[in-house]
Amino acid sequence: MIDFHCHLDLYPDPLAIRDECDSRGMYVLSVTTTPSAWQGTSALAAQTKRIRTALGLHPQLAHERMNELPLFDSYLPETRYVGEIGLDGAPEFRRQWSTQVAVFEHILARCRETGGRTMSIHSRRASRAVLDTLERFSGAGTPILHWFSGSFGELDRAVALGCWFSVGPAMLAGEKGRALAARMPRERVLTESDGPFAQVNGESVMPWQVEKALDALSTVWSLPSEEVRQYIRDNLRRLLEKNRD
Ligand code: MN
Repeated sequence: MIDFHCHLDLYPDPLAIRDECDSRGMYVLSVTTTPSAWQGTSALAAQTKRIRTALGLHPQLAHERMNELPLFDSYLPETRYVGEIGLDGAPEFRRQWSTQVAVFEHILARCRETGGRTMSIHSRRASRAVLDTLERFSGAGTPILHWFSGSFGELDRAVALGCWFSVGPAMLAGEKGRALAARMPRERVLTESDGPFAQVNGESVMPWQVEKALDALSTVWSLPSEEVRQYIRDNLRRLLEKNRD
């Protein structure tokens, strides 16, 4: 199983979640929300084979943590994965928009200068601006739009720009999320939990509950579950080959 966007460090007991993922043989991309979380969070994965850590600065924290950009730059050579980064256009984060844009652009510029990264990207209520920015910074790496919630037109544009997608149980619980997933190219989709932020039935999604996303994909793609699993595994393998990890 693959959880390509998970906040391992934010679960109440990160070590227990890590051990459970490890014993299940899961591949996990553990994303961070601030550069200052990098060292502690990457240490969680140190003794594991299949957990990778991404260096991030979440758009909802851009305003408070912009002063950590030098720290971001200093850690960037240590990883091939960047996330969670992006833009958030929800009303409560609108006031910080120009800071969010400055942070996102700074990160994309650094990624581009240093050979590109695999990037897990937040685009809530900001799909168009995220795509415009990715287009301007082409060469920053492979963008994986996590929990994409834009329009069909924006989805098609994202595909044309070379974006991948990670989809999880919370996204696929809704009709719109399922309709978007149905339209995504199957060779560009990975599963994610977005736990512990993402919830289903009032409970934080656990990494191994990506199983539910596989079931949902099997329904929306009208494919047997085993074929869906094969697609997702092949996709990850192709992504890693592309990024030589
Ligand atoms: Mn997240």
